[in-house]
Amino acid sequence: MNTELRSKTRTTADWQAADAAHFLHPFTDFQSLAKKGSRIITKAENIYLTDSDGQRILDAMSGLWCVNVGYGQQALIDAATRQLKELPFYNAFFQTATPPAIELAELLAEVTPPQFKHVFFTGSGSEGNDTIVRMVRRYWDIQGQPGRSVIISRRNGYHGSTMAGASLGGMSAMHAQGGLPIPGIEHIDQPYWVEHGQHRPAPSRLKAGDPPRGAGDEGDLGAGISREQFGLVAARWLEEKILAVGVERVAAFIGEPIQGAGGVIIPPATYWPEIQRICDKYGILLVSDEVITGFGRTGRWFGCETFGARPDLMTFAKGVTSGYIPLGGVMVGERVAEALIERGGEFEHGYTYSGHPVACAVALANIKLIRELGLVERVHDDVGPYLAEGFESLKAHPLVGDAESCGLMGAVLLVKDKDGLKPFDESVGIGMVCRGHCFREGLIMRAVGNRMIIAPPLVITRAQIDEMMALIRRCLDLTLADARREGWL
Ligand SMILES: *Cc1c(COP(=O)(O)O)cnc(C)c1O
Repeated sequence: MNTELRSKTRTTADWQAADAAHFLHPFTDFQSLAKKGSRIITKAENIYLTDSDGQRILDAMSGLWCVNVGYGQQALIDAATRQLKELPFYNAFFQTATPPAIELAELLAEVTPPQFKHVFFTGSGSEGNDTIVRMVRRYWDIQGQPGRSVIISRRNGYHGSTMAGASLGGMSAMHAQGGLPIPGIEHIDQPYWVEHGQHRPAPSRLKAGDPPRGAGDEGDLGAGISREQFGLVAARWLEEKILAVGVERVAAFIGEPIQGAGGVIIPPATYWPEIQRICDKYGILLVSDEVITGFGRTGRWFGCETFGARPDLMTFAKGVTSGYIPLGGVMVGERVAEALIERGGEFEHGYTYSGHPVACAVALANIKLIRELGLVERVHDDVGPYLAEGFESLKAHPLVGDAESCGLMGAVLLVKDKDGLKPFDESVGIGMVCRGHCFREGLIMRAVGNRMIIAPPLVITRAQIDEMMALIRRCLDLTLADARREGWL
């Protein structure tokens, strides 16, 4: 049968059966999904998806943190079509290049912070972080310090799913499968104030020179240290780790400006400047994984600009093409670029699709559109602050222990008791209960433990934020009703 005909005549149940029979989804319990059946998404426009039953869903997750310009942008579709006709593929291995890859490299140098003039293209964020591991180790080789090979990252960070990406990441469930992390990766704890700060870190974690935990901070939600003080404490875990490993063995530190998959953990404002200071002090490379926070998500072009860091390397993917086609890469700052170019010889690394012309053409159209629509400024001055107001108002809800946002990333912490932010029993799976209501009500909101998170397309309007907030409130109410009925409170 003609496949086109076959797609049109299939029902949701047909799709689900074929899906369960053949398609192994990422990060999925195959058997339980097969029982339940996938939700089949058939089309999308602007910020709305349509499923195979015709239900309209507000996509508050931008697909998977990537559809920054929203769905259905003709400029991206045209760019891909044009490039597919002109030159669908040529590689960059054989001392060759294609116009879209060159122009994109040029444009990226323009929109990224001034230390970045060079880019290494990959096919995804995970490949970008694999490239980071090879590149920082190569850098130290060239510097004549091959012993500097250890990369420090954070528990509950996410850096992708390849061997190196998953190793850099700090997801214990991922490490438990496949013998990870690979050697030479060390983890420190995450800058999550709700977990550490408000319960007062154990005294052993606080070192001489840490700011005092004064009485004046007690009013800030819990009974522990203030967010700002905690930010410094958490950053100094890096210094402790550097000293424990030995400065002469440490190559780099990598972190997401805001941890995305970890639950939209927004660090205190004091955190990144202190991380920067520590990296400078010991001369180690700072890597900002901007796969989510890049291309306007936080209200600046890159998250490091929002948080006051000056990384040596940046990983990007997702929003670079608004997810229309896969592309990733690494921005290489002058310090590393100089060594690689002037003294490195051949860098033995690359991918078939490094600088794929169609992907680069789409990225070019995407970045130009972000500029034309003024999306970065819009997030910074208009819809970002408007979302923050909406999130602030959620704090009054009985289930909400905390609600915070930065640009167009936000998280709502669901608690059993606002006093002391007491969590629900884990067996309740409160996030998944809430997420179930969201699905049924036509809202894509993701659950990470007890944190409900959003990252809507940057084209979202104020009216659409109102619509989204109304849906979020409704789903919180439905979840609260469940909690009361089932006696979870
Ligand atoms: C998604 C993500 C990655 C991995 O990107 P893929 O394209 O899925 O390989 C890496 N880092 C961060 C911060 C991400 O959110």
